[in-house]
Amino acid sequence: MRPPRPAPAELQRRLRAAYPDAHCALDHADPFQLVVATILSAQCTDARVNLTTPALFVRYPDAAALAEARPTELEALIKSTGFYHNKAKNLIGLGQALMARHGGVVPSDPAALGALPGVGQKTANVVLANAFGVPALAVDTHIFRVARRLGLSKAATPEKVEADLCRLFPREDWIELHHQLIFHGRRVCDARRPDCGACPLLDLCPTGQGQMKDPHLGVRLAPTVSRLQSSVPSLQSAAPAAQAPTDGIPQRIISLVPSVTELLVQWGLATRIAGRTRYCIEPRWIRNTVPAVGGTKDPDLDRIRDLAPDLVILERDENPKGVADALTALGIPWLALEIRTLKDCAAAWRELGTRLGVPEAGEARAAALEASLKGRRRRGPRALPLIWREPWMSSGPDTYLADLLRQGGFTPVGPDRYPVLSDEDLAALAPELILLPSEPYRFNRRHQAELQKRFPEAIVRLVDGQALTWYLSRTEAGLDLVRSFR
Ligand code: SF4
Repeated sequence: MRPPRPAPAELQRRLRAAYPDAHCALDHADPFQLVVATILSAQCTDARVNLTTPALFVRYPDAAALAEARPTELEALIKSTGFYHNKAKNLIGLGQALMARHGGVVPSDPAALGALPGVGQKTANVVLANAFGVPALAVDTHIFRVARRLGLSKAATPEKVEADLCRLFPREDWIELHHQLIFHGRRVCDARRPDCGACPLLDLCPTGQGQMKDPHLGVRLAPTVSRLQSSVPSLQSAAPAAQAPTDGIPQRIISLVPSVTELLVQWGLATRIAGRTRYCIEPRWIRNTVPAVGGTKDPDLDRIRDLAPDLVILERDENPKGVADALTALGIPWLALEIRTLKDCAAAWRELGTRLGVPEAGEARAAALEASLKGRRRRGPRALPLIWREPWMSSGPDTYLADLLRQGGFTPVGPDRYPVLSDEDLAALAPELILLPSEPYRFNRRHQAELQKRFPEAIVRLVDGQALTWYLSRTEAGLDLVRSFR
């Protein structure tokens, strides 16, 4: 049965009493400063933005100055907010667009505001509400979490949560509610340790009362029967208890690499996984028990910070460098792997094993792989692993997949990295074996038939993409698969 949803009017009454001072946390003196600060606040804390903007606004006091900014100078001023290349580009674009289209003035029209560089719907809503008093309810990470815990929305995206909240609460209260929910999320309903025992909303909250699983942590909080109880709820399962690292060994790991997430489970470290990307989907049960922190290319850094990891694991091809820069800016330790060969796998197993306190597991796997690679390999048939269609893309000779083929006795062909190939390029490569993995592109029998027709002499195979591309967790399976092709 669905737990009862709190009455909106009572919820508002409590929030008003608890947070009479709720206000916009970004320091600003006018709409221009607010839109700049809001752009900087993406993937960054408001406090850090407030440390950055005073010097920024002295150097660039208005749209005209920003439009003329030199990228390197601007980047140096905003570097600590993370993703500073993109943010600098957006800010200069913002200044130029304001000068070209709006006489240097920030427009109060939602459509015109939303069309400015770097200003998405969330930023536009923040600016409309706080600079112009236009009712809007931008859903950030705190509101998303608190609204779902309170049972106000079951939606899985900020946009849908926003729509649910706007339906429930009177339009004239949206701005006030926006600030109150953010304050509540920051002060009481913490991402990792919601202080249910001290929460003024406890008797209205189905999550705090243990009537439903915490949609953020994915576990049921133990019922909190009295506000005088401990303010730290105990969790009933493998929930992320806050722990200091044990002898420097990470206890709260976030993996931004799907195959590494699977590897951690293989090594018996599941209870130490505090977060994963939405592509970390193996083993399947992990989807319901470990919180997701966005994608591999664009992880949600607020969410990562809220989960308080003591190690984030990255891979250089899988995750952009900007993610590592942002983690550094947030003071979060990270480890970046680089996997382009099977030798890299052996080195990574050893490094991860040592770093995570399971050196035997890493050494056993590395030694077994090295033993299986001993001996000379002949240069075998020309193999072309495709990874995308329209346009055709392949996994080049300097990638992990190509080395798997090489070690399996094939000769990978094509340009390095992940090149786009024209029909003529494909023909010129004259492949003798064409592999069509099931991911990242879902190749099917129709594609196989199409290529077989064009390359009647070649062998064209549909293959298990995870076996071929999930390094570390499936390297041995990938090697077995490739060897079976000979
Ligand atoms: S009772 Fe707990 S989960 Fe519910 S709003 Fe309060 S702190 Fe958050």
